[in-house]
Amino acid sequence: MKVDVKALEQRVQAALENSSNQENPLYEVLNDLWQYNQTQWQRAEQVIKMSDAYQDMMLRRERSLAARFDKHLRQLEKMARISDRYQHAMREANQELERASTIDQLTDLPNRRSMMRLLSREVEQGHDDLKVAMVDIDYFKRINDQYGHLAGDEVLVMISDIMLSTLGDRGTLARWGGEEFIILFNDEPQANVIHCLNELVKAVRSSEIDIFDGAVIRTSISVGLTQFFPGDTVDSLIGRVDQVMYQAKNSGRGCICTDLSENTAVYA
Ligand code: GH3
Ligand code: MG
Ligand code: MG
Repeated sequence: MKVDVKALEQRVQAALENSSNQENPLYEVLNDLWQYNQTQWQRAEQVIKMSDAYQDMMLRRERSLAARFDKHLRQLEKMARISDRYQHAMREANQELERASTIDQLTDLPNRRSMMRLLSREVEQGHDDLKVAMVDIDYFKRINDQYGHLAGDEVLVMISDIMLSTLGDRGTLARWGGEEFIILFNDEPQANVIHCLNELVKAVRSSEIDIFDGAVIRTSISVGLTQFFPGDTVDSLIGRVDQVMYQAKNSGRGCICTDLSENTAVYA
């Protein structure tokens, strides 16, 4: 049976307010029951209110926790992005450092340090078919004196490019310092190496190098060639190739000298 509580209450309240009922023996017990009922309702309302307030508080706490969690998550994401960028920048800086430590800034060729490393490795392995050439630009100081240091730099870059493209993959070219270069030949027969160096000497000699003020510079290179002998160190090898290169200077420049044949030969 469905009870209309509101209507029942109205009826009870009306019966209690009717003064003619006050004499009724059931009036007192009905009134007590009514008061008890009212008290129970008030308690129930209080419990509902407390429960609502509690739920409200929990909801607000949940929202505030979620907001804080979101904020921390965003901070973490931001830190992760910064860390990624930092690591990326560090990787790039390391690569740049590695590059700068092995590549010559002006000519983009491997530098002395890089060639030393290569030579040491080859010498340590006792590579018996290793040939080393030293190239020195002739009268380079005059170019600097006449056209200035910047033009000299330009010529160094041009000559490096000419030598590199002429050499191809037959040897490894490095800038040894100033206007001196080292070329390493691995397992190349002597005749091929001399032929290759001849090409280099001729390519440089026949090049007209344009510098920025319109002037054209012609120059030449002197080359020394030696090979690894058992017992050689990097120093002894470099010392010998330097001496042979000076023989090329003393033989009139623009040529190749080698101690590989029985007699010192001059080519080109
Ligand atoms: P030689 O034929 O005997 O080799 O004569 P040279 O003038 O080339 O020889 P020297 O060693 O007297 O001069 C080399 C010059 O190279 C001296 C130096 O100022 C110049 N030089 C060295 N490094 C650089 C460089 O990076 N840029 C420029 N522009 N000049 C350089
Ligand atoms: Mg020199
Ligand atoms: Mg020189």
